[in-house]
Amino acid sequence: MPATRYIDLPAMRRLMDRVGIVGAIRGIRDNLREDFGRWHDFEKSPRTANHSNLGVIELMPVSDHDHFSFKYVNGHPKNIEQGLMTVMAFGALSEVKTGWPLLLSEMTILTALRTAATSVLAAELVARDDCRTMAMIGNGAQSEFQCLGFHHLLGIEEFHLYDLDPKATDKLIRNLGGQINLIPHSSINDAVKGVDIITTCTADKKLAIIVEDSMVEPGMHLNAIGGDCPGKTELEGAILQRSKVFVEFAPQSRIEGEIQHQAADFPVTELWEVLSDPRNGRESNEQITVFDSVGFGLEDFSGLRYIYQQAIEHGIGEDLGLMPVLGDVKDLYGFTQPIPARR
Ligand code: NAD
Repeated sequence: MPATRYIDLPAMRRLMDRVGIVGAIRGIRDNLREDFGRWHDFEKSPRTANHSNLGVIELMPVSDHDHFSFKYVNGHPKNIEQGLMTVMAFGALSEVKTGWPLLLSEMTILTALRTAATSVLAAELVARDDCRTMAMIGNGAQSEFQCLGFHHLLGIEEFHLYDLDPKATDKLIRNLGGQINLIPHSSINDAVKGVDIITTCTADKKLAIIVEDSMVEPGMHLNAIGGDCPGKTELEGAILQRSKVFVEFAPQSRIEGEIQHQAADFPVTELWEVLSDPRNGRESNEQITVFDSVGFGLEDFSGLRYIYQQAIEHGIGEDLGLMPVLGDVKDLYGFTQPIPARR
């Protein structure tokens, strides 16, 4: 009998206990390499986004010949004022041949894992090989996952932190300070000075200029993940003009990414193009590279695929009776009738 595995937040915590956060980021990064490496197997579309003046709610579907996945995710920077997270998500992975949902999962934690894994993959592909320092701008919910991924998978040794809210930086240091070299700064200028990589991970629904052109030095890699919907950006446009820009899926990034204000034919390279031919990547040590990340459905597919496999392997989560399995598949009505009382 088919089943739908359900991973709620407590189950995801148990799973992380088994595989470790870094293990999960590594496993998802491996899946991403595989899935972006077979780009043309996937049916892809920009996500649908329903905007309000407070935030956005999005649906992100993608499929190959065997599996379909979708994520429901929001982005509400003002949520924190009500004690709710900015980004929350859940999603599902299904079998294409029957439409049966194999997995229904929380995806708030999974989004942070897959976003870190994607950032790491992009940096592996296009940042300089000798990167050792990173500025982490925006020290909210995503930031620990980014720091752990870049430290353990890319060898970043020193993180320079800045957030408008010093309590967010304190929290990051409390969580990871014993494991990683974290240096707080009271201005973004100090945090980005001389680093190899700048990660921007701020949340504000406006055309912000968090990183100014004058802060960016030759050879830097920018991992820009916070500008991810129309009217929400983080980089001064002039930076893009003198950089090589990499994106996940150009049709979606042109709507949502840092490039939303550039010309419709502004040159970008999709990550899969670098995977298929490294000559499409960084061209010199002096070149500035930008990963203009918005988050694409294929990253959720790679993440869900990882979680499903681990959940089955470790026996975590419960099997849900979400879909009908009927004795007579045409008798749905009969299934709705009260079960006769036993005498
Ligand atoms: P969060 O609200 O938990 O943290 C954001 C932090 O940014 C806060 O601590 C806030 O004080 C800080 N901040 C806001 N404006 C700032 C500024 N001008 N300078 C410095 N710090 C500033 O949000 P989060 O869950 O960490 O997400 C961060 C951003 O990443 C959001 O915009 C979210 O939409 C985006 N995101 C992108 C992807 C992707 O795939 N690209 C995935 C997940 C989240």
